[in-house]
Amino acid sequence: MRISAQDFFAAYISFSFVGIFLLWIRELMRRKAYEWKISEASLCICGKCHYGFLVKAGEKLAHCPRCNDLCVVKKHRK
Ligand SMILES: [Zn+2]
Repeated sequence: MRISAQDFFAAYISFSFVGIFLLWIRELMRRKAYEWKISEASLCICGKCHYGFLVKAGEKLAHCPRCNDLCVVKKHRK
């Protein structure tokens, strides 16, 4: 069996496409997971020690895990 340069090139191109496609799918999955995470939890930054932590979506008040200070959850987006 002989593989011509053309066949090799065609195989190379199709493998590259598959590789790009897989990377693209992975990127989409990662972005989706990231967006989900952001919508589920909101970031709260402590006014006292400036420690950033995530709180459950819908919660208005949270205790800072570092200094236990009560802080108001600011709504980002919308
Ligand atoms: Zn704090």
